Amino acid sequence: MVEVIPLFYGDRTTAENANDFLKAFNRNILLTNLQAMDAQKIDILSNYLGTDSPAEKWYQSLAGAHLTSWDVFTQAFKARWPPHTSATQTSEEYQMELLALTIPENEVGSIKLVGRQKVWMHVKWAEEALELATLAEIETESTLIWQVKKQLPKAVWKLLDDKYLDWKAFTDAVKGLSTTKLQEEREDIQEHARREEEREQKLLQKVEAVKRATTANLTAQLQRLTVGQVTVSRANMSHTTKPSTASPFLTSRFRLQQGSQTTNTPYTPPTEEQKETVQKGLERYPHQPHDKEGQKVYTAQLVAWMTEHGNVTKITERTPYPLRPGTAVICSGECYCCGTHGHGCKDCPTSEVDAVRLSRNETAWRALCNRVLGPVNKSTAHNIRLVAIDEQENDLGSL
Ligand SMILES: [Zn+2]
Repeated sequence: MVEVIPLFYGDRTTAENANDFLKAFNRNILLTNLQAMDAQKIDILSNYLGTDSPAEKWYQSLAGAHLTSWDVFTQAFKARWPPHTSATQTSEEYQMELLALTIPENEVGSIKLVGRQKVWMHVKWAEEALELATLAEIETESTLIWQVKKQLPKAVWKLLDDKYLDWKAFTDAVKGLSTTKLQEEREDIQEHARREEEREQKLLQKVEAVKRATTANLTAQLQRLTVGQVTVSRANMSHTTKPSTASPFLTSRFRLQQGSQTTNTPYTPPTEEQKETVQKGLERYPHQPHDKEGQKVYTAQLVAWMTEHGNVTKITERTPYPLRPGTAVICSGECYCCGTHGHGCKDCPTSEVDAVRLSRNETAWRALCNRVLGPVNKSTAHNIRLVAIDEQENDLGSL
């Protein structure tokens, strides 16, 4: 079988790879014309260069041994289009990816399309997990197994054993899960979600009914309330029905809701206790220097945090979050979105997809620290600026 070799342009604008092009060409020569002389081979190759492309122009400039010796030719070719070194990820980065790899609850027991092939979601997950564990070089150990298992939906992990010695055993066990059982779990989850929704609907209807019944009573009560304690929309106020006929039950229900509105009260200064909690939190995960060792400690901090809180914890004073190395020191008037100086989060030029953008958790933690402690490190902070780069990573200047 002869493969089709795409033309080589050498213009660096496309995703072509000079080395892979040479390999494909060689494969083809081996299969079709074993006897080709060097000069012949070079001549054949020239027919695979895009017309008027940088590659063809380069070829036309060749002379002497370049056109008669395959070795000399390929050496020159590789020197002209040096291979890209691919970006390699560190073991820690693969470990983080592994920790974030999960099966969404609503996809338990479902079938996914991979290419043209239909595979079970849990099998796809197990294959990806083993691949990441192998890349992270932890596949022969039990490292991270229980943390990753904990991130899986309960419907999956409850079917698994307590302990696995290595990643092969663990992912094999996931792959081997009974699809009948998983589908049953899926039905349970869907059933549960439907019941939850029904319950919520009913509750909502009840609340509406209570609201309507108490509007009259409410209007009178509202006049006695201090401004700012509770916000009531005009729609409710104008909904006046019959004057006070509300039962005691309904009145007490209203009081409960009133209590839950306290989050709407105006700004209250942080208490000493809050300040102390945040201070202590910052000591828990010291900001690391921007070097290899610092990066390693930072990864370990993230793993520790994820292990303790999982993926979805709301950030509070009691959930201090690790700070990314290389970014501005905390409480220094920095942008909470990207951790640099010179602008605020609202005007941050980065977007959610930028690599320099901080995680939502870190953004929330930085905002919280600043709210509680104020910009206490502003005068001593080392100035960190956001620098714009183009796709070739050339500096376009500081923002
Ligand atoms: Zn920013």
